[in-house]
Amino acid sequence: MFTRILYPTDFSDVAQKALKYIEHLKYAGAQEVIILHVIDIRSLELLVWDPENFKTIENDLRQGAMKKAVFVRKHLETKGFTVKARIETGIPASKILRAEKEENVSVIVLGSHGRSNLKEMFLGSVSERVIRNAKAPILVVKR
Ligand code: ATP
Ligand code: MN
Repeated sequence: MFTRILYPTDFSDVAQKALKYIEHLKYAGAQEVIILHVIDIRSLELLVWDPENFKTIENDLRQGAMKKAVFVRKHLETKGFTVKARIETGIPASKILRAEKEENVSVIVLGSHGRSNLKEMFLGSVSERVIRNAKAPILVVKR
């Protein structure tokens, strides 16, 4: 029931907190974790005015994200999971929902909030869109 876990992360504290829950899903039969980080193309476009620089900055962000993802991957591997890391560029919620389909996941584990973590928001916009549209069951870890 929980064999393949999709773990979308923005590497925020709340997303990090979700890791503990993933580890415990091992006792419920979880075997594989797909770590997914999406470089938000909208903030990238705001950040980069010069299209020449776009690829360079995207690559820098990708390298940075890969380092963090490898760290998470190694941690999960020591806990006995098979792990795959995906770094993509696009709209986070759309990429997460696409990965859900492509990877045929059994459960999605994510944080209720992420980097912006506004106090008055009940959910972040990414978690809200994913919860609304995903087919798989979702474990939402609160801040
Ligand atoms: P908002 O981004 O709407 O201002 P927020 O940052 O507080 O609000 P979300 O972005 O919805 O909250 O984050 C909720 C969870 O969604 C995170 O804990 C993480 O699991 C996942 N998530 C958010 N952004 C990304 C991303 N770029 N790539 C992968 N997963 C993400
Ligand atoms: Mn966010």
